[in-house]
Amino acid sequence: MTTQYPHIVVGGGISGLSAAHYATTFGVETLLLEANARVGGCMQTYSFPELDGFWIEAGSHSCFNSYGNLLQIMDELGFLDRATPKAKQSYALWREGQRKKILSALHIPELVTSLPRLFTAKKSECSVAEYYGAGLGSRNYRDLFGPAFRSVICQNADDFPAQALFRKKPRRKDVLRSFTMPTGLSEIPRTIAEESGLTVQCDSKVEQITRSDTGFEIALSDGTTLGCDALTLAVPPDAAARLLRDCASRAAEHIANIGVVDIDSLLLAFRKEDLDAPEMAGLISVDGAFLSAVSRDFLDDPRYRGFAFHFPGDLLGEEERVQAACAALGTRPDAIAAAAHCRNKLPSLRKGHAALIEQIDAALAGLSLAVTGNWFLGVSIEDCVSRSLAEHYRLFGAPDAAI
Ligand SMILES: Cc1cc2nc3c(=O)[nH]c(=O)nc-3n(C[C@H](O)[C@H](O)[C@H](O)COP(=O)(O)OP(=O)(O)OC[C@H]3O[C@@H](n4cnc5c(N)ncnc54)[C@H](O)[C@@H]3O)c2cc1C
Repeated sequence: MTTQYPHIVVGGGISGLSAAHYATTFGVETLLLEANARVGGCMQTYSFPELDGFWIEAGSHSCFNSYGNLLQIMDELGFLDRATPKAKQSYALWREGQRKKILSALHIPELVTSLPRLFTAKKSECSVAEYYGAGLGSRNYRDLFGPAFRSVICQNADDFPAQALFRKKPRRKDVLRSFTMPTGLSEIPRTIAEESGLTVQCDSKVEQITRSDTGFEIALSDGTTLGCDALTLAVPPDAAARLLRDCASRAAEHIANIGVVDIDSLLLAFRKEDLDAPEMAGLISVDGAFLSAVSRDFLDDPRYRGFAFHFPGDLLGEEERVQAACAALGTRPDAIAAAAHCRNKLPSLRKGHAALIEQIDAALAGLSLAVTGNWFLGVSIEDCVSRSLAEHYRLFGAPDAAI
């Protein structure tokens, strides 16, 4: 017999967890299904057991006081006071085999003459290269901002929609401007998953979704079948297109136009005395083999330092990645205290994305099916939570106040 739920969420990253939180606090019994053994998706803090639990962020590393919807969830669950300040450090550039100061790549006269265009160009109609190339200057874009934006989204940013890269959001003055958590950002998804009333089932990969008389039927890879009245899908676009094929084919066709990039992340930990590199926020790679590196220097550990080097997926072998990372840190592989590898996936949005989302939303209208993720408003954690909230209102009804 198929077990029936009022609401099932597929995908346990921040998009799915925030959707599940909204439904649960609204009083809708919710089951969340996550393919991996842990929740969090790209919010992934990696701990080295062999280094007494020293951790490095393998994915997202910073939350901000402009993340209003996320902050409200943390407030509601009573753990916003665990937000922990990040030490202020600068990024450096990695160019021509050397670490250089950011300012060394800035063409100031060009910046001054270009800046007015940043306020007159229509961001919503431009790609990142068009908007920032015009508003910051083409040489500034080539030498500094293009590589910097590439390091933010771990992929070439030129064709990315300018509006989806940075969205202006109001700041909460009572919260730290930029923060982490005492045990890393994974604390956030973990705490939401432990919320009372919400059932989370890990190691549960969804293989197929079909319509049923009462809503949806969900087939898991272990052969189990579950039913639900309402469904929220919170998986990357390639997985969403596949899963919606049999239950929302028009939406699936539109979603299939959204690309994804794989990112191979190399995590390196060093004993402090074995690494001479200066403290830094990370490295923006201009011409290196990696896309970016993010350090763990923002939260001091008495014994270790750590770095996550993000590489384009499947491009280099393990040894080449280690060599490239060690060269950028001015050290040798035998100085590494511990290493780990993991994989991330991010959507590859393109100019014209807003029109595509309108088509997807039109295809979903009237269905008891919500679709959320980091491929609607933008890739930031707050973009995910904001989409989940809007979809929650569409599925279960908006309060009287405007969204
Ligand atoms: C290296 C890196 C650094 C970043 N830094 C920041 C940052 O500092 N600040 C910031 O705001 N954002 C940052 N981001 C972006 C942000 O972390 C992500 O966009 C966001 O966490 C994505 O959440 P999500 O839930 O939409 O998707 P994901 O995190 O990808 O979660 C999707 C989940 O769905 C599951 N799933 C997939 N298929 C199935 C299936 N068939 N059945 C069941 N489950 C399935 C996956 O296992 C996964 O857990 C960063 C991202 C990366 C990769």
